[in-house]
Amino acid sequence: MTPPDTRDLLLRAAELAQRYLQDLPARPVAARAGAAELLARLEGALPEEGLPADRVIEELVASADPGLTAMGSGRFFGWVIGGALPVGIAADWLTSTWDQNAGSAEATPAAAVLEQVALGWVAQLLDLPPGCVGGLVTGGQMANTVCLTVARHRVLAAAGHDVEQDGLAGAPAVELLMGAEQHDTVLRSMRLLGLGTRRIRHVPVDRQGRMRAAELAAVLRRVHGPAIVCAQAGNVNTGAFDPLEEIADAVDTARSRLPEGSVWLHVDGAFGLWARTSPALRAQAAGAERADSWATDAHKWLNTPYDCGVAITAHPEAHRRALGIHAAYLPTQDPVVRAPFDYTPELSRRARSFVLWATLRHLGAAGVRAMIERCCAHARRFALALADVPGLEILNDVTLNQVLVRLRDPAGHDDAAHVRAVIAALWADGTCLTSGTTWQGVPAMRISVSNWATDESDVDRSVAAIAAAHLGRAR
Ligand SMILES: *Cc1c(COP(=O)(O)O)cnc(C)c1O
Repeated sequence: MTPPDTRDLLLRAAELAQRYLQDLPARPVAARAGAAELLARLEGALPEEGLPADRVIEELVASADPGLTAMGSGRFFGWVIGGALPVGIAADWLTSTWDQNAGSAEATPAAAVLEQVALGWVAQLLDLPPGCVGGLVTGGQMANTVCLTVARHRVLAAAGHDVEQDGLAGAPAVELLMGAEQHDTVLRSMRLLGLGTRRIRHVPVDRQGRMRAAELAAVLRRVHGPAIVCAQAGNVNTGAFDPLEEIADAVDTARSRLPEGSVWLHVDGAFGLWARTSPALRAQAAGAERADSWATDAHKWLNTPYDCGVAITAHPEAHRRALGIHAAYLPTQDPVVRAPFDYTPELSRRARSFVLWATLRHLGAAGVRAMIERCCAHARRFALALADVPGLEILNDVTLNQVLVRLRDPAGHDDAAHVRAVIAALWADGTCLTSGTTWQGVPAMRISVSNWATDESDVDRSVAAIAAAHLGRAR
């Protein structure tokens, strides 16, 4: 096997990538082939003989292409995904090429310094208090887990328990308080941390999914030991924010009668926290700066390529105690540039900082704000147009980028099968892609406008496709 010329190989990959991006607007948004079909085509034992790199790349593209969803399309509105700005794609290529192990500042000053700088920029954009620390992880799930690991350390330390040394055996119970519409990843973080889900008190929420702060305050009045409160900035269905100021007030009241550090306030703001970059949207997320920790994603609304989650806490010492690593063969903490591996659960990891830094540097604060505001304007355009379609109703207050659509069947009833059929018809049609949910008992369709590339014509074409799929079924 002769090694191919690196130049030809990389230029060919660039050409294939460029072709994909160029075809993206015309490509059917849903994948042409399903998982079962692809598996039948591709499964089998690894051949004994290898294949030259250039042929592998051609084969990879031929194998994967039918199963690719156009997540970067301006008409992809499924879940909360976001696209990838070209600057991030280019920086991502260089990240792989440089192949830096981003764990230590001594091993890779560039990755560590740019991580520190980019984290500072995120904190600045989100208007978090000075002195925060953080780390770059795979996504919101791990960002929640990192923040809650630090929370677990601090609230138990306040009760005189050293969870790092002694584990949870013999630890006082930690009260876990969150809204009933909290994201499922927070529950998984609780499982991973050994805190469990049984103890969680799910505070009632309103029709938008916002935690009722008065009910939280009532529950907190009966808390006598360590407690972690998880608030949400941006519900995955409605985009709604928990009332963060009132929640922070309730937490302050509880703190005033408990030992210092006993109550931790975490904000899961995977996409919603970015509302804080815009004066027009910021009020919904007011009070977030009063929290102890924040989990967010760059790969959703900031439109970096996967993967990039951001975990930030306001407690550098607790953060290092909970997550820091100490091994004789590893470099020690640098006094100027922090060691990235002391802030996440990973040791070796990808240098996500290059993409995050490049994306922020490209957009600037004004560009981030404009992108966030544009997505919200498109969401409002969706809501206005869809509300005019017979049988459709917008279930949420469209104050962010999420639109939740009720689709009644021809008889005027809520019917999960009708919602599923409309979504399936959209996927088959290829114009746009939306996803489904059940919102407080009502089957519904979700539209998430999270992509930098979406424009008004994308919205209008998608509205027409949704109306046709719904009315066609209803006929
Ligand atoms: C998407 C999301 C998460 C999980 O983030 P991942 O990046 O998918 O791990 C957590 N919380 C909320 C509110 C989310 O929207």
